[in-house]
Amino acid sequence: MDNRNKCAGCYRQFNKMEHLVEHMRTSFHSNHEPICGICHKHCRSFESLREHLIGPLPKAECERIFKDRGCDVCLNIFSSRHALHHHRDKGHFSRGSNGILYRMANLGIQDELRMDNSRGKVVSLACKTVGGGSDGSLDLCARVCLIDEHQNLIFHTYVKPNLPVTNYRYETTGIRPEYLRDATPVRQVGRKIQDYLCNGEPIWQIRSRNGKARILVGHGLDHDLKCLEVEYPELLIRDTARYPPLMKTSKLSNSLKYLTKAYLGYEIQNGVQDPHEDCVATMRLYKRMRSQDHRVESYPLASDQQNRNNFASWRQTELERMSPERMLEMSRSDYYCWCLDSK
Ligand SMILES: [Zn+2]
Ligand SMILES: [Zn+2]
Ligand SMILES: [Zn+2]
Ligand SMILES: [Zn+2]
Repeated sequence: MDNRNKCAGCYRQFNKMEHLVEHMRTSFHSNHEPICGICHKHCRSFESLREHLIGPLPKAECERIFKDRGCDVCLNIFSSRHALHHHRDKGHFSRGSNGILYRMANLGIQDELRMDNSRGKVVSLACKTVGGGSDGSLDLCARVCLIDEHQNLIFHTYVKPNLPVTNYRYETTGIRPEYLRDATPVRQVGRKIQDYLCNGEPIWQIRSRNGKARILVGHGLDHDLKCLEVEYPELLIRDTARYPPLMKTSKLSNSLKYLTKAYLGYEIQNGVQDPHEDCVATMRLYKRMRSQDHRVESYPLASDQQNRNNFASWRQTELERMSPERMLEMSRSDYYCWCLDSK
């Protein structure tokens, strides 16, 4: 078979070389994409990798091997069935250990937010909202939690909204009016959190992820930060709702409940929801993504100015003479891979 016009990343076949070149300009394949452990096909998201391995229309050869010695939570392939069993015995995460953390978090309600640098650089944040406005549909922050990357509680408190609450959403929040009556007003909580995140760096001066300011992990942080009236620079935000490898093939966000079930292997948000549980799940997802062992490059992003490998600087005729492997080699990601946080 003629492989000349076949993408070396996703294995799509094109009739003409110019179509492959066009595909390479816009696909942003890179070694940061989820890659099948069997045929090494590059996928845009873990969901498309899952479809490739498990179905509904899997690649037969990969499916057969995956069924034999692949883990359906982390999607890794193991060298033998024995190695897979060993991996499964160690387990991923369980609701059990999460349950203990949850109870501890409730026991040690921590509503004082102190600057404390022993906590490390990464924190995750989650809120629970009650309803405001005449129909109760306006989201008002009523509870907020922050944990560090070792799942230690930093801050866990009720918040007093600055508008009247018209629906406590008791079934999912478990919040009663008396819990909020003497709580700290949302504006004050927001300011405390912003100060904690900036960690002494003036917010307008934050230009790099290597300063003192902390990396903020969460799910749908736009919404959480808006209801807390907190601003934070994009380059320090790691949002599991907006991270391409964790999104649907349709490029829409997955719910945190789904991501936790699919990629951590346990259930959350059944019945009354605690923001601590969401913090733990997003932090675990973040750490899983960050721990991926990807090849290091001096200019990892397509948008890096110094990167002559971004296709734009090459002529069409030059590209058409390159091999598919060479084009894949110089292709770079259009998103910031979280593994770069550990470099
Ligand atoms: Zn491709
Ligand atoms: Zn990476
Ligand atoms: Zn495969
Ligand atoms: Zn696994």
